[in-house]
Amino acid sequence: MFDNLSTKLDRAFKTLKGQGSITEINVASTVKEIRRALVDADVNYKVAKEVTDKIKDEAMGRDVLTAVSPGQLMVKIVYDELTELMGGEKKDILIKGDPAVVLLSGLQGSGKTTFAGKLASYIKKQNRTVLLVACDVYRPAAIDQLKVLGEQIGVEVYAETENKNPVEISQNAIEYARKNNKKVVIIDTAGRLAVDEQMMREIEAVKKAINPSETLFVVDSMTGQDAVNTAKTFNDRLNFDGVVLTKLDGDARGGAALSIRAVVEKPIKFISTGEKMEALDLFYPDRMAQRILGMGDVISLVERAQQQFDEDEAKRINAKIRKNQFNFDDFLSQLEQIKKMGNLKDLVGMIPGMGKAMKDVEIDDDAFKPIEAIIKSMTPQERANPDLINGSRRKRLAAGSGQGIQQVNNLMKQFDEMRKMMRTMNKMSQTKGGMAQMA
Ligand code: GDP
Repeated sequence: MFDNLSTKLDRAFKTLKGQGSITEINVASTVKEIRRALVDADVNYKVAKEVTDKIKDEAMGRDVLTAVSPGQLMVKIVYDELTELMGGEKKDILIKGDPAVVLLSGLQGSGKTTFAGKLASYIKKQNRTVLLVACDVYRPAAIDQLKVLGEQIGVEVYAETENKNPVEISQNAIEYARKNNKKVVIIDTAGRLAVDEQMMREIEAVKKAINPSETLFVVDSMTGQDAVNTAKTFNDRLNFDGVVLTKLDGDARGGAALSIRAVVEKPIKFISTGEKMEALDLFYPDRMAQRILGMGDVISLVERAQQQFDEDEAKRINAKIRKNQFNFDDFLSQLEQIKKMGNLKDLVGMIPGMGKAMKDVEIDDDAFKPIEAIIKSMTPQERANPDLINGSRRKRLAAGSGQGIQQVNNLMKQFDEMRKMMRTMNKMSQTKGGMAQMA
């Protein structure tokens, strides 16, 4: 998402390469380039100017140690300033009260309803009972959308289709939650295409009546500077507690993430990076700064993996690998696990250095489809015992999966190589000091 900005910053840093120290002359052109890169990334001009002025002050007169190049030192300074600009520390959502109430606000199409589902799923994973409330009294379709999401994630949805009063609906929902032992209530309110007075009054009234522990403002990061303006309008009326930036998987220039916090002085708490329920991350200013600078975001990747991976399944598969029994059923189960972690391109982008390298490469979740189709065409015996799959069976698999014989052969070859590698690793770890020899 920030590819453009990081490429440009890269170029700005290059002008400092090979210089012995940071001086007014060499820093001026770099700072100018950084400012241009930020503005191009849709960062509010005033914010960009403030931050680059600070960077310049920080950089000036610093002696460059032999261990670091001026460019590296600048990266560090820019990293620190960007982190600061996005709020410094990570800020958690406040879930307090019985039930705790979270109110969602934002324009129509911002991704509010999708986020309501994601947040519910996130909270449910922490073993807390959740009630989703459909409070959009204008669009019956919005209520249905929430119900579909609720069903998908196994969370109850409260709605009153005949009632047109959002204040009443939310109060009734909280009452219902109390009676039915739901600890967290998430209220999805109506959004309009543009800010309008009636919508503002309505959500203000809801907020006043239910006094939520957390009011979040959901905004589409693709809308650039508009996102900042909308955030300001909502904040003036609602005094919200935090921001949710959505659609950061798209080609948003990312400037919104950098300017919203600076303009409304409210922390970004979550980022949403796809339509799937799992595509939700907590917002860490330092990690986002690393990501902008192309340093990757390994920590988020690891965390997401930990959340989604089924540990028992991982143990089971490990045991099979150790016994040289890894088969196509296990392979399929591994593919499912990877897919659960969300958008593939996103995952790749979090690996340092990969984001830029993969910028123009198309990888989507369909990448696994041909492989899955072939494995699913296998008989249970074939999956459990891949050595059965001879020439005529391969032909049958090609026909059954709608793939070419070449694809089937490729998959068999890859699978064989994978098993060979597993066997070698097993042997090495069985020989005394095997692993140590590898290192
Ligand atoms: P609402 O009108 O604010 O409730 O918005 P919706 O939740 O209905 O979202 C509007 C559209 O954006 C839907 O098609 C969603 O699937 C899509 N959407 C929501 N969040 C994301 C996201 O993080 N990334 C992408 N690519 N699409 C999203």
